[in-house]
Amino acid sequence: MIVILTGAGISQESGIATFRDSGGLWENESIEDVATPGGFARNPARVLDFYNQRRKQLLSPEIAPNAAHLALARLERESSEPVLVVTQNVDNLHECAGTSNLLHMHGELLKARCTACRGVSQWEVDMSKSDACPKCGTTGKLRPHIVWFEEMPLYMDEIEQALESCRLFVSIGTSGNVYPAAGFVRSARSAGAQTLELNLEKSVGASAFHDGRYGKASEIVPDWVDEVLSRQ
Ligand code: NAD
Repeated sequence: MIVILTGAGISQESGIATFRDSGGLWENESIEDVATPGGFARNPARVLDFYNQRRKQLLSPEIAPNAAHLALARLERESSEPVLVVTQNVDNLHECAGTSNLLHMHGELLKARCTACRGVSQWEVDMSKSDACPKCGTTGKLRPHIVWFEEMPLYMDEIEQALESCRLFVSIGTSGNVYPAAGFVRSARSAGAQTLELNLEKSVGASAFHDGRYGKASEIVPDWVDEVLSRQ
């Protein structure tokens, strides 16, 4: 099995700002205010507005999967061994490109979660404090289906199982700052996998990988996929 971890860098060339690079939405916002449970409890309207803006941006016509997302979808379709994509991204660009074996460990921007019934629903319009949950009808209990800082990422059991049994682990477009994702390379390596980093530049955790290739995701990911498929 090939396990691929993706981060904000794979969506950067699709027009979605990364987390730490300059010029993004995040530059003007503090993490504590918009991406923690405490920030939501203090000022839900501000947090909802922040995600409303991001959702609107994601749904705008100019945002589309780039060559890196498309190459990973091709890898899943054509590879003779199973491929799992684990993404830290909350956008839907992997699915739009055609990837189906996909785990959104940090949640999804186009979904809402009800804190009353815990139901998760598709949500593609602005969210407000007075909205009702489509599943249970309770009003005022919806939040973005986003894993905030201090919260536990999703699908950790499935991810750990996949890391224990993978032949190859590849990390694409992630700075290696956010745990537990930043620790996946060590889990995969200690289970015997080969490990490869594909990123614009060496990440803080680059030395944990056997190998690294550096450049724009839209160029280095399709090249790597071509190589993997031609070797199979
Ligand atoms: P990050 O911003 O910390 O790191 C992005 C990495 O991508 C950097 O190492 C950067 O050098 C690299 N990069 C930038 N442009 C690139 C390109 N064109 N090609 C290849 N690499 C490129 O992001 P992260 O590591 O994913 O962690 C940040 C957190 O923020 C995640 O938890 C994620 O959930 C969230 N986030 C998600 C999105 C999204 O859904 N698209 C966007 C921003 C942040």
